[in-house]
Amino acid sequence: MGRLTGRFALVTGASRGIGLAIATAFAAEGAAVAINYRSGAAEAEALAQELRSQGAQVLLLQGNVGDRSAWTEMMRVIGATWGRLDILVNNAGITRDKTLRKLTDEDWVDVINTNLNACYYGVSAVMPMMCAQNYGRIINISSFVGQAGNFGQANYSASKGGIIAFTKTAALELARNNVTVNALAPGFTLTDMLAKVPENIQDQIRARIPLGRFGRPEEIAKAVLFLAADGDYVTGQQINVNGGVYM
Ligand code: NAP
Repeated sequence: MGRLTGRFALVTGASRGIGLAIATAFAAEGAAVAINYRSGAAEAEALAQELRSQGAQVLLLQGNVGDRSAWTEMMRVIGATWGRLDILVNNAGITRDKTLRKLTDEDWVDVINTNLNACYYGVSAVMPMMCAQNYGRIINISSFVGQAGNFGQANYSASKGGIIAFTKTAALELARNNVTVNALAPGFTLTDMLAKVPENIQDQIRARIPLGRFGRPEEIAKAVLFLAADGDYVTGQQINVNGGVYM
């Protein structure tokens, strides 16, 4: 028996990076996992095959999380296939890093829509099913820059700070239905998102991290797994997994 045997989970943005590590950790603990992605069909398919070969039940759900109609379709498929959903991880996210002098309205809107509006769409989409079940675990992936701010990330830090505030309100409103809502705030983590940062800037960042290294996606996934499997009495919290870069 795994810690998530009999549970059904949806992880957004699971074709790579942190989402892939979360989906993998959930499947290893016995959960059935729905892998959402936007454009990385080949990567998502490869992950699905890998998890199925280990005995997991997997659904592949293509869809843009910033589009409400994609949520309607994902919930239709989940309802028809599984009839329930226990865990939602709102993980999909993007960056469009520029200083405020160069930031365009499009950079602002795209990031807020994919990172923050998607969390709202996701929670409202799963809420009816989770409340009816009287069980749900929702984990929203924020970032330490939602607490600290970061040069060149006005749009991204606003989206991630918004996730923290949204999480607390959703936690208050859903607690009576035994649905917990928490935010997980990673520090700099070794994924494609970090790889986009120029190497000399990566060196400067690394020097600011008390543990002296970037995080690994699996280290973020462990904390998400805790919230999903063992966090029964944890709600409205923000868990920091950041190597000490923000305390
Ligand atoms: P990543 O490697 O760039 O992967 C992003 C994932 O999100 C991909 O699977 C991508 O799918 C998916 N995605 C992007 N836009 C989407 C959309 N509109 N609809 C559905 N899926 C979408 O990023 P990551 O580093 O793993 O980041 C995962 C989460 O952690 C994000 O919320 C990020 O903000 C947060 N985070 C990351 C770091 C870090 O240092 N890496 C630090 C703090 C927080 P496709 O490839 O199919 O588009």
